[in-house]
Amino acid sequence: MFSDQPMQTTVRDVVTFDGIGLHSGRFVHLAVYPAPANTGIQFKRIDVTENRQTIVAHPDNVRKARLCTRIENADGVRLETVEHLMAAFAGLGVDNALVTIDSGEAPILDGSSLPFVSALMQAGLATLPVRRRTMVITDTVRVEHAGGWAMIEPCDRLEIDAEIDFEDPAIGRQRFHYIHGDGQFETQLAAARTFCQMRDVAAMQNAGLALGGSLDNAVVVENGRILNDTGLRMKHEFVRHKILDCLGDLYLLGMMLRGKVTASRPGHAICADLITTLWDATESYRIVEEGALVGHSDGYALPEVAAAAAV
Ligand SMILES: [Zn+2]
Repeated sequence: MFSDQPMQTTVRDVVTFDGIGLHSGRFVHLAVYPAPANTGIQFKRIDVTENRQTIVAHPDNVRKARLCTRIENADGVRLETVEHLMAAFAGLGVDNALVTIDSGEAPILDGSSLPFVSALMQAGLATLPVRRRTMVITDTVRVEHAGGWAMIEPCDRLEIDAEIDFEDPAIGRQRFHYIHGDGQFETQLAAARTFCQMRDVAAMQNAGLALGGSLDNAVVVENGRILNDTGLRMKHEFVRHKILDCLGDLYLLGMMLRGKVTASRPGHAICADLITTLWDATESYRIVEEGALVGHSDGYALPEVAAAAAV
């Protein structure tokens, strides 16, 4: 599997997606292009002025937001709801890609990473002749936010053990322990959909959120019932989706991660906190390449904009 190999990868071919934004409700077109080694994941907002378009998946660009993942470049250009695509990249082991998008929010598609995973797998991945960089956790980092917490500690692989606890008995208390690698993302997490409680929908929509939300792109629960005709896709779909979000958010570190994440009631704000706190705690990790020490955060600057990547 590409997620386990030591060499960097990119997509073999251009992959395109059309759909609406979960929060904006706007129609959006997104395309994933191959990119050279050490590009990382770079987004290009083609609907804004050319010199302000690029937003790199990097901790410096992560912003805290309540119900979505938000990244923002130095010019204040934002992009939201990238977590399901980022999870697909992390899960499949895509190190480099240039993603163009004509809106400030990625398409929600079916609410999971499955459409991204299927299309990326169909296009296939190419191995690049450059070693992959991995962030290896060497000391524990813990963050808390609004009744939830998350911590990351040393481990010889990436693991995410999370627990959620919702009042609605259709969700209730669920826990899942994800071990990354060996195709686990595709079978354990990729298809898990985003979800909400019916009673929160009006408040979200009054706040201008979830305007594109429907039973086609989210699991909706009300008083112990799942409102989607087809029910759940898998056991513990809710907590699996939270782990999927967490994996996607953590890939905004700009590289693969080796460490164990434990989280209770995680959300995007906690993940954003974990990313920035961890990134600043340079004594808590090292960045390795082919088993050799590369450096701490000061050894990894924002990569140059991938001018060579064809758009
Ligand atoms: Zn999500």
